[in-house]
Amino acid sequence: MGRPARLTLVGAAGRMGRRLDALAAEDERLDVTGRVDAGGPGLDALDPGSVDCVVDFSVQAQARATCAFCADHGVPLVMGTTGLEEDDRAAIREVGARAPVVWAPNYSVGVNALFALAGELATMMGEGFDLELVEAHHRHKVDAPSGTARRLVEILADARGTTYGDAAVCGREGLVGARSDEEIGVSVVRGGDVVGEHTVHFAGPAERLELTHKAGGREIFAAGAVRAAQWTAARPPGLYSMRDVLGV
Ligand code: NAD
Repeated sequence: MGRPARLTLVGAAGRMGRRLDALAAEDERLDVTGRVDAGGPGLDALDPGSVDCVVDFSVQAQARATCAFCADHGVPLVMGTTGLEEDDRAAIREVGARAPVVWAPNYSVGVNALFALAGELATMMGEGFDLELVEAHHRHKVDAPSGTARRLVEILADARGTTYGDAAVCGREGLVGARSDEEIGVSVVRGGDVVGEHTVHFAGPAERLELTHKAGGREIFAAGAVRAAQWTAARPPGLYSMRDVLGV
């Protein structure tokens, strides 16, 4: 076995950062050598040559700085932060031109299976079934709908030949009229300590099918992100998804 992969965690003091740290400590193939959080020294204080992969689970406002560090120095990146703007997404794509970057709104294996099944079912069930999505998260979550919900809607919309921007209807209130065939409704629940739940409803005239994933703990995301960080080693530059990491 070669030397352990040297990880730098961005958002190291956060809920995800601490889990990643704990998981890496149990894995002899990984070594967390850099920890960046608000108020402390930034990524620029690090020697890029000593970083094998940056894993960012922090805040939207930090995403571009993380991408700039990785793009400038060709350092692999696992981006977990959600609530990103189009400029942030463009910055992630720029990293992909210089280094391998894994970008997933959700690093759990089960959710990535849900992504695969949701698209297949949308195609299989065809027109005549209304697509709706309900997501629930803990009371501290700052962005809505969740990155996972957005990705699910993108997948469903793609299966219907449309886009998130054209199809998503986030929340309904008042006299909104009957739903259209094309829209994909998104409803958001926030409260308590819910780690993350996503249900896709395929609602037809006399039958309804529901596909649900419930996350029991944040370790499922940390485990997937660690797997992604290991996977980036010796990978050519490019933008990769968790499906690439899982080989599905
Ligand atoms: P958290 O609030 O517990 O942690 C965020 C951390 O980022 C905090 O320690 C905060 O101090 C730090 N931070 C703030 N500004 C910073 C900066 N400029 N530089 C470095 N660190 C900074 O949040 P969390 O629950 O750990 O989630 C973090 C992010 O990861 C959120 O965007 C969340 O939605 C996302 N997330 C993604 C997945 C996934 O699978 N993709 C799973 C869980 C959470």
